[in-house]
Amino acid sequence: MLKLFKYLKPFSQSVALVLVLVFFQSLADLYLPTLMSDIVDTGIVKGDTSYILRVGAFMLLVAAVSGLCLISASFLSAKVATGLGRNLRSLVFARVESYSQHEFDKLGTASLITRTTNDITQVQQVLIIMMRMMVGAPMMSIGGIIMAVSKDATLSLIFVVVLPVLAVVIFGIAGKGIPLFKAMQVKLDTLNRVLREGLTGIRVIRAFNRIDHEKERFTESNRDLTNTAIKVNIIMASLMPVMMVVMNLTTIAIVWFGGIRVNNGDIQVGDMMAFLQYAMQIMFSLVMVSFMFIMIPRAEASAMRINEVLDMIPEIKDAEEIKNPDSQRGFVEFKDVTFSYPGAEQPALKDVSFTASPGEVTALIGGTGSGKSTLINLIPRFYDIDSGSIFVDGVDVRKMSQANLRAKIGFVPQKAVLFTGTIAENIRYGKEDATDKEVEHVARIAQAIEFITSMTDGFNSVIAQGGANISGGQKQRLAIARALVRRPEIYVFDDTFSALDFKTDAQLRAALKKETADATVIIVAQRVSTVMNANRVIVMDDGRIVGMGTHRELLTTCEVYREIVSSQFSEEELA
Ligand code: ADP
Ligand code: MG
Repeated sequence: MLKLFKYLKPFSQSVALVLVLVFFQSLADLYLPTLMSDIVDTGIVKGDTSYILRVGAFMLLVAAVSGLCLISASFLSAKVATGLGRNLRSLVFARVESYSQHEFDKLGTASLITRTTNDITQVQQVLIIMMRMMVGAPMMSIGGIIMAVSKDATLSLIFVVVLPVLAVVIFGIAGKGIPLFKAMQVKLDTLNRVLREGLTGIRVIRAFNRIDHEKERFTESNRDLTNTAIKVNIIMASLMPVMMVVMNLTTIAIVWFGGIRVNNGDIQVGDMMAFLQYAMQIMFSLVMVSFMFIMIPRAEASAMRINEVLDMIPEIKDAEEIKNPDSQRGFVEFKDVTFSYPGAEQPALKDVSFTASPGEVTALIGGTGSGKSTLINLIPRFYDIDSGSIFVDGVDVRKMSQANLRAKIGFVPQKAVLFTGTIAENIRYGKEDATDKEVEHVARIAQAIEFITSMTDGFNSVIAQGGANISGGQKQRLAIARALVRRPEIYVFDDTFSALDFKTDAQLRAALKKETADATVIIVAQRVSTVMNANRVIVMDDGRIVGMGTHRELLTTCEVYREIVSSQFSEEELA
């Protein structure tokens, strides 16, 4: 957690101010019982009304100072803690944005969300308490003891008995509670996971009649969490009554022995009353400190999870010396590229070499799992390769800046991802300053105009979260429009056309042909009809290129291609 405190730097003035305010508040609180004993012992005993009024007014003033300090300290410490929370959240978010696919695979999306929200809140809460207690608790307990001893050293011997008892009680209860608190965090994670799966998979769950099974799973982790929470709360709830018993017994002891000493004339009544209040202050501050020690381990675990995110260095970084291609063209070249996913035994791509040039269409075809998506994910450098090199416009992608490289590419992923917002906003994601005319133009080419205009608000129709209110094919067409609006040098379509019916597929490809005439086009496809007219068809099998050429050439040279073709066409159609 200490590591996170370096992010408190922008707030150092406010933190210092909180500490000073708490200091004065504690001083005022320590002073009040003494003033009271003055009123009792001097004012009341002598019957001096004006003295009582004078000191009473002063007491009110001191109490007001204490109250003001307390209010300002609370306000400022809350402000500092929420400010730190805000900064940490944006730090974590920025760091996660810079992650490459590797880091996402390592930490997991669900965990990244909990770390950005729940874990940061934990740290935030404990920070408020720490700021208030760091100065307050030692002052109140040590100051209280000093004041109490100064009132009556003999009576202070009571503390020698009480404080160890208190310590045993606190440590006993905290020792039982802390491990349970930690277990609760893990159980909360589990509950979150089960709930998330249940919500996102609700259709599948219904379709397979697994509602009861899911309910059971949820009930089980819910009960698990509840039981632990109840146990923790019973333990923690017992802290207060036990403390009260100890405190009240202490009060009785002080009044008992104090009464004897007052009777003997050793101390005055007012001093005994002040002593009683100091005893309360000491014990209360000890209880607060113990609460802090219960909360710190929990926040510590959260802080570790946050640090893990902040410390993870993205594997893909811009090179020290960035070299960007001078002329805009759109050449893509793979040279003996071998790539394996982290932790995988077999490389997903082996010795892949090919070139794609502007004005050409390069099509990738092959069975599922043959490495087509893997291959095209390497062009925008989502992953770094094991050996070989990938050149875009003659420069190794590892030497270019990622921003520059990706600006050249219009990427349509296999699974279309849309963002909450209007259709026009989603298309403009590709190019922020696209005019209405451009947006409409690309929607027309992507064969999306028909369904867009049939929606009530046209281009201003709102897309629900994850594009839930439009079909898969419609999503794909919007994703295509988004890539088109950039007018990139290189178009990459990952299996974009298989969600479309044959007619739309053909229309779309005809319209695309004109639009992308000067660009490099790389298409991943399932259907032979989609790749037939490509300048170059690359046949993939098990991570290798097993055939390359035009449709006609491949029919005679490539066995795998022939198999794919014959599985989709009848003998007559082939002839
Ligand atoms: P295709 O797009 O041709 O269907 P992919 O390129 O998606 O195939 O997958 C090729 C191989 O790489 C598969 O065996 C798959 O299991 C593996 N693979 C794909 N993505 C990952 C990943 N993120 N981590 C590990 N292995 C992966
Ligand atoms: Mg794929």
